[in-house]
Amino acid sequence: MDTILRALERLEKERSGVRSVEVLSSKKLSETELEAVLDEGKRIFGENQIALKARLRPDILGGAVFQTENETFDASMGGRLRQLSRFLKKNRNCFFSGIFWRLYFGIGGQRFIQSFIFDVSMTQNVHSMAEEIRRRIEQFEMTEKREQTGVVLEIGDGVARVSGLSEVAAGEMVEFDNGTFGVALNLEEDLAGIILLGEAGSIAEGGIVRPTGKILSVPVGKAVIGRVVNVLGEPIDGKGGIESEGSRSVERVAPGVMLRESPKEPLQTGIKAIDALIPIGRGQRELIIGDRQTGKTAVAIDTILNQKGQNVLCFYVAIGQKESKVARIVSELEKGGAMEYTTVVVAGASEPAALSFLAPYAGCAMAEHFLEAGKHALVVYDDLSKHAASYRQISLILRRPPGREAYPGDVFYLHSRLLERSAKLSKEAGGGSITALPIIETQAGDVSAYIPTNVISITDGQIYLESDLFYKGIRPALNVGLSVSRVGSSAQIKAMKQVAGTLRLDLAQFRELEAFAQFGSDLDEKTREQINRGKRGVEILKQKQYAPLSVEKEVAVLYALTRGFLDEIIIEKIARWEEGFLEYLERDGDDILSLIRERKALDEEGEALLKKHIEHFNELFLE
Ligand code: ATP
Ligand code: MG
Repeated sequence: MDTILRALERLEKERSGVRSVEVLSSKKLSETELEAVLDEGKRIFGENQIALKARLRPDILGGAVFQTENETFDASMGGRLRQLSRFLKKNRNCFFSGIFWRLYFGIGGQRFIQSFIFDVSMTQNVHSMAEEIRRRIEQFEMTEKREQTGVVLEIGDGVARVSGLSEVAAGEMVEFDNGTFGVALNLEEDLAGIILLGEAGSIAEGGIVRPTGKILSVPVGKAVIGRVVNVLGEPIDGKGGIESEGSRSVERVAPGVMLRESPKEPLQTGIKAIDALIPIGRGQRELIIGDRQTGKTAVAIDTILNQKGQNVLCFYVAIGQKESKVARIVSELEKGGAMEYTTVVVAGASEPAALSFLAPYAGCAMAEHFLEAGKHALVVYDDLSKHAASYRQISLILRRPPGREAYPGDVFYLHSRLLERSAKLSKEAGGGSITALPIIETQAGDVSAYIPTNVISITDGQIYLESDLFYKGIRPALNVGLSVSRVGSSAQIKAMKQVAGTLRLDLAQFRELEAFAQFGSDLDEKTREQINRGKRGVEILKQKQYAPLSVEKEVAVLYALTRGFLDEIIIEKIARWEEGFLEYLERDGDDILSLIRERKALDEEGEALLKKHIEHFNELFLE
């Protein structure tokens, strides 16, 4: 209805040929002042006749603003301050501009003073800063010109519908008159749907919206490593500003087919069950899927912890998670020394949906910078279910037609264009890689719901975690039967292939026999042996959180299992055996660990040495 009315209004205007101009002033204008303003308006817009409408806006502080449907001429005090603020910001990422903003919008005296004290206390030398600011203000020159603007028609739930932004681009940042930024998402004939990147605050109907001409981008490069940032790349860890080498648009087309090659170097997760049975290669996209509280995040965090010294830069994107959870994760990463090579991108649960929607693209853009420099990166998206939900929320408010499960029709494209950006580039293209570990939360194990099936089909395999196993104490709660890696063993080192070859089969047979063995007690020797081995396999694949293992230790332990050295150990003591064996290897077995690490395979010599160590330790253990 409102669209039709607006169209009629526009037609009427076109017909009469008279441009309607609104004049905003901070105080009520007298008759003579109005006359003068009318003349000024005609001069500005170069028209003989305009229809003038006056409106009171105390927050422009003084002077006047002329505004038409798609243009603004700002000659107000507030406008000057805004220009000055922008000028200072442009010259250097200067905190003073923040002060001007607060001065202008007066967010309440106390908060202003607090933040002022905070800002100033950060400077070393207040005097020289004051000098600097004075010098810059002297350089500043006002420009008064007509600029393209839009007008807020409707605002609510983090989304604004704006008219008049006829030249705005999709994904372009726009600025509202309270300093909040937004991103243009929906471009319709005479409306733009803008998602807000901050609090709506004082944005109201009729407010002015300015296009910035810039596509949403984030800082990239070494400066972001080790930091906790928000979706705009601004630090939220209280460790000072980020002086980045450059910035990068958050949306980008994925590398083309010819630039890619299939993953062949392993990305070790440090989790025995995964490295042996579902190997992940650099450049692969492996989904971690499971119900809530099944240890999904734990798998991803252990993988990050295990990248120490592996030349892989990690990006953990927390989407719509509780801030307390994220804080705990950051402290674990710090404790494990992983923040040296990790960036955490946070869009908190309490923040607008737009931020959750944009967070994965921001994290991916930061990783892409390193991909193009020929380096290796790992990105964890925790989780894409919440990402889809935030996109659904935005889309419904933007009145896009809902599809299956009320998600908009392009939610598949949303995830595929994100995950396609993970790649292994060929040698000619620099050889870099982005490995992606997206996480999906299922409801009651339902992997056939819309979002899970989408993401399963986009990724190169999935790590399927189950509540039942988790509660039985089998952690990581990996369902070996349903988990796969489509890249497979080409991303395993030879030594791992040698020991893991029969493991999957052993475990599968064990599961079958176990069910079968419940019915009869007299089993033949071979079956009993298989069940025996299987039980020990399940036991040895259990692993504590925050305790990733190096690949050579994994190989040593799995070798002992698959070659039958654990058959004599009672099940309850397997965990103790493993702990003791790894300690023993660290103490006395450096020769075999370094041999596996360097040769990446178990040759005759290595196998004999490993066997000797295991036998020796078993003697000690069984005493
Ligand atoms: P959510 O759905 O809430 O995001 P999640 O699936 O990501 O949960 P986590 O938070 O990783 O699960 O783990 C859930 C709980 O299980 C945590 O308390 C964690 O410490 C514990 N846990 C995870 N993995 C293991 C493990 N291998 N051994 C022991 N405890 C674990
Ligand atoms: Mg989690």
